Amino acid sequence: KFPYRKLPNKAEVTRMAPSPTGFIHLGNLYSALADERIAHRNGGVFYLRIEDTDEKRKVDGAVETIINVLRYFDIEFDEGAGFDDTDPRNAYGPYFQRQRVEIYHTYAKSLVERGLAYPCFCTEEELDKVRAKQEEDKVLTGYYGEYATCRNLSYEEVEANIKAGKPYVLRLRSQGSPDKEITFVDAIKGEIKLPENIHDIVLLKKDGIPTYHFAHAIDDHLMRTTTVVRGGEWLASAPIHYELFHLLGFKMPAYAHTAHLMKFDEETGGKRKLSKRKDPELSLDYYRKDGYHPYTMKVYLLTLLNSNFEEWHEKFPDKDINEFPFSVEKMNQSGALFDKDKLHNICKNELSKLSEEELYDFLYDWAKENEPENVEKWFGDREKMLQILRLYMGVGAKRRRKDLMYAKQIFELISYFFDGESAEEMDEFKLDEDMVSKILKSYLAKYDHNDDNSVWFNKLKEIADEHGFASDMKAYKANPENFKGNVSDIAEAVRIAVTGRANTPDLWTIVHIMGEEQMTERIKKHIK
Ligand code: GLU
Repeated sequence: KFPYRKLPNKAEVTRMAPSPTGFIHLGNLYSALADERIAHRNGGVFYLRIEDTDEKRKVDGAVETIINVLRYFDIEFDEGAGFDDTDPRNAYGPYFQRQRVEIYHTYAKSLVERGLAYPCFCTEEELDKVRAKQEEDKVLTGYYGEYATCRNLSYEEVEANIKAGKPYVLRLRSQGSPDKEITFVDAIKGEIKLPENIHDIVLLKKDGIPTYHFAHAIDDHLMRTTTVVRGGEWLASAPIHYELFHLLGFKMPAYAHTAHLMKFDEETGGKRKLSKRKDPELSLDYYRKDGYHPYTMKVYLLTLLNSNFEEWHEKFPDKDINEFPFSVEKMNQSGALFDKDKLHNICKNELSKLSEEELYDFLYDWAKENEPENVEKWFGDREKMLQILRLYMGVGAKRRRKDLMYAKQIFELISYFFDGESAEEMDEFKLDEDMVSKILKSYLAKYDHNDDNSVWFNKLKEIADEHGFASDMKAYKANPENFKGNVSDIAEAVRIAVTGRANTPDLWTIVHIMGEEQMTERIKKHIK
């Protein structure tokens, strides 16, 4: 219908081929990032194909979810599902496997004609029996060789079974031998040697719908995929795919099997694979909901993915990461260890490089999506929010502060500007209640909103002297036993009363963003 892609010579074609379960995880983003980089380094194409052959696992809206989540992380497809059918970019569609069933049947028929596929009428019970026997005999389980009883049915037997309405699957007549090996080069793992496939795997299920093995081989060929990046769990199936490509007369794409994402397991003290059930942070939606900035996630994944990214990024901190000379060959070969602390450090570092306007826009977009009821409260006064962000980013200070990690955490950190503090959320005063009350009383008596930062601080020192605390740090350090504490204890009492937190950026600035009235109200709550 449309002209085929016209791509430069070295261009690579990559794809993401998810099943539409609606769950997309960190590993998908990890592969997608590699796919996108590989495709775009030489002017190629990254397309989306939906592997919806398993009706049971299908979830409505899953395709939109995939596209939206990846778009949030700044990854865009060039072609495939999600594009309009009339879009000339979609020259190799349809991109939903359910709409391609006739295509698979055409290839299936040609394999049957060539004697390379046959119908199998075995029931589940029969297959279970064979498996039990194999287990008993301690031999490889599966449908192969002498155990593949339907392999040798005569034409007449097959015909009779079909006429009798017996359900059947279509199986590959494997040509593999257990004594031979296949060899291929995996772009990440290097040369791979594995025993040849000998299993007569299912190509078409009883309802005529293909299996992943069969469908993906045909699609990767017809859609001109040059490079397949997929999870390491598929490596074990590579011999099946090798045989299928070979028997179908297709050239195999280059493979890159990514490392599993691992996690340190507190229970066992060892490493384990991230699991959908145990680890909410495996789901990409987790990061979108909590408002991790897409750029920070990309920096993190590139750090995990490519052994030389971190060094490059440190050397050129201001270069856009899209300029990083990505190479599949340098991708981590074994389990990449997912580490939240590391992710958070990267978040702090990267967010500190934004301008306050950029951060403002990001937070605003996140809030509109996730906390619409708070948008007016937080963003009603643009200048106030900008001042808060400037303060938290340390704009104007010698060194930028690095406290901010992701949207949700930021709003928690600055909530006292908008919500006050409930007793449960407050850090505890270190001094006893009576002392706090006395200090705060003196503070209000002396407070003048027109004082500059240093006059204001001198007043804190006066309060220290009044109540037996040291106003002079040298004097305090020489004889701490002569004092109840020092001026920093005074500042801390005021800080906790005003903000509910023992650690904040500059208190004087906070009070001036907040205004005298709100400050006074908060302080009064803690005076007996
Ligand atoms: N549909 C497969 C999955 O979701 C795709 C594997 C592949 O990328 O080839 O795991």
